[in-house]
Amino acid sequence: MRVLVVGGAGYIGSHMVKLLGQRGCEVTVLDNLSAGYRDAVTSGRFVLGDLGEFEVLDEVFRTGRFDGVMHFASHIQVGESVREPAKYYRNNVFKTQYLLDAMVAHRVKSFIFSSTAAIFGEPVRVPIDEAHPREPINPYGCGKWMVERMLQDYDVAYGLKSVCLRYFNAAGADPDGELGERHEPETHLIPLVLRAAAGRLPEVTVFGTDYDTPDGTCIRDYIHVTDLCEAHWLALQRLRAGGESTAYNLGNGQGFSVREVIDTARAVTGREIPVHYGVRRPGDPARLVADARRAQAELGWEPRYNDLATIIAHAWRWEQRRTPG
Ligand code: UDP
Repeated sequence: MRVLVVGGAGYIGSHMVKLLGQRGCEVTVLDNLSAGYRDAVTSGRFVLGDLGEFEVLDEVFRTGRFDGVMHFASHIQVGESVREPAKYYRNNVFKTQYLLDAMVAHRVKSFIFSSTAAIFGEPVRVPIDEAHPREPINPYGCGKWMVERMLQDYDVAYGLKSVCLRYFNAAGADPDGELGERHEPETHLIPLVLRAAAGRLPEVTVFGTDYDTPDGTCIRDYIHVTDLCEAHWLALQRLRAGGESTAYNLGNGQGFSVREVIDTARAVTGREIPVHYGVRRPGDPARLVADARRAQAELGWEPRYNDLATIIAHAWRWEQRRTPG
């Protein structure tokens, strides 16, 4: 199977490229390296380019004869999206439309889209299933939802079949230790906690201790990056077998508070992790937990690394590779 992975040099994309390579796929990665790393692409053909470059996109599709496309290339910081909505709509929406138009022009019919729990906005019920109202509260979530809507119309009009995968909190690293999370700047909880454990940061700041949760800190559903990739693989198989367009929520269905994450990281690393208790970060809902039973039932998806200590242990091994000694 020939697969185009857009954003294959990034965190989740690079893990996906590795998995597709292991499954015998012929992979082409298209990435502008704005946030990815060339050396994270461990197999396949690499094309340096941006979705906004028509000639590059056309050439990639003309030579690639793809069976499917996976799209991981997007800006991911909620706070930044509020300050710079133009950047988010341009990259995450308009450039995604160029990609979809290239698929239509070249008659490639199977699309796997990286969506997000942020499309749901402030949850009205938890755990969050696929039917939960979509009312995003920031430009990041709005853009992802706009693409989901666009995909429904592209299916009706052009027969482009898609699976939207709404990630909860992607975390962890390649169990082989070869790949991991390399965001700069890093804003995610687990890598920051581990940087503090490694002494690369003086402390980790907990954003708010006055939430309506048992210990006052926010609760999130952390899902291992390798389990996310497995869901992409299964979703692509489903489309290739004639499956209809759909969307799935991807998480473990289990919530952990910020304090629980830090305590687990202390146990896994055996290190002290200095903590500063700060104020809330704007836009953070108290509790985001997935109801992922549909993905399990329809895709046969079973998260393998669904234990928080394992997720953190894999991320810790990666962090240690980056901070020798
Ligand atoms: N968080 C925190 N300190 C940090 C980074 C994150 O307390 O330095 C909290 C954040 O408020 C949220 C949770 O950790 O409740 C997960 O945040 P992250 O940015 O990792 O992912 P998000 O839930 O925003 O997608």
